[in-house]
Amino acid sequence: MSLLEADLKYIWHPAQQMKDAEVFPPVVIDHGKGCYLYDIEGKEYIDIISSWWCNLLGHCNDGINDAIKDQLGQLEHVIFANFSHRPAIELCQALLPLLPKGLTHFNFTDNGSSSVECALKMAFQYQYQSGHPERQRFMCLSESYHGETIGALSVGSMDLYARIYKPMMMNNIHFDGLDCYRCPYGQTRDTCNCECFVGAEKAFVAYGKETAALIVEPILQGAAGMRIYPPEYLRRLRHLCDQYGVLLIDDEVAAGFGRTGKMFAIEHAGVSPDILCTSKGLTGGYLPMSLTITTDAIYQAFYDDFKTHKAFVHSHTYAGNPLACRAALAVLHIMERDDILKKAAEKSIYL
Ligand SMILES: *Cc1c(COP(=O)(O)O)cnc(C)c1O
Repeated sequence: MSLLEADLKYIWHPAQQMKDAEVFPPVVIDHGKGCYLYDIEGKEYIDIISSWWCNLLGHCNDGINDAIKDQLGQLEHVIFANFSHRPAIELCQALLPLLPKGLTHFNFTDNGSSSVECALKMAFQYQYQSGHPERQRFMCLSESYHGETIGALSVGSMDLYARIYKPMMMNNIHFDGLDCYRCPYGQTRDTCNCECFVGAEKAFVAYGKETAALIVEPILQGAAGMRIYPPEYLRRLRHLCDQYGVLLIDDEVAAGFGRTGKMFAIEHAGVSPDILCTSKGLTGGYLPMSLTITTDAIYQAFYDDFKTHKAFVHSHTYAGNPLACRAALAVLHIMERDDILKKAAEKSIYL
């Protein structure tokens, strides 16, 4: 049996109709270097999709390779409940000055969907423990995407992913968001006055008092078709959330780590979220890891004597994996050393 035959016999690939593989068989990759991938026949490809938007600094990057190899000789993994390790601590310290103001507490998870699940539970429990048990719902924009586990699907608005599972999902509020490419108000970026914000305003008037949090992809609705929208919309969302006591969850899983030119996309709007989710670029596309990062105000609502049962009882076996933390530290080091954001700004004009 050839490699490809064995693949088609055994592997159920993600997010595709496997019958299509009869016509478009998977490309079996042998190795990669920089932006190039090479299949088992030696054919070269440019990885323009960055291996599902996560590969920031190229395949087989020497700096990241060395960091992981070094960590392998030291410690591969350890339970993160009541244990800790240097790479995780140093990663938080390295990220702190790069994050939007006020985000100071890091909860480790292991993929983007998990970081969204963590954010939803954290927001829900925060409201519950802060005298607002009636705030049980979540808001999201039309055409939003936040991952494919049940909770994350429940705050996504893309029918393609969610339709069949509707009976399994939470009853959230999906309001009319935005579409700058086909603006229903006939505006352009120069004439835009966020006319479409009326969708958010209506939703807050109707449901603002029963909502725990709003989740949004900042600046860029990725899965919806790389739809980019103006920072003003985010600023207004922040304002509405403050007005109604609703938490703002900033899903930077796709847009974070320089993807929109800033380290985190919400920086374009000059505001901070209450909770920030990040994953894809975090380890440069090397290892599955994600972070749900929040404010001291939220952290303090969980901080009490054990018997009050206010702790955040949420965990993943691979939370805070040391190898992934070392990869992430190497990514931050290389981004700073090589001035990646500045170079990206120059290259984007050329492109
Ligand atoms: C990819 C993505 C997720 C889900 O991350 P996974 O690691 O694939 O589970 C969540 N939110 C956004 C905005 C994403 O692009």
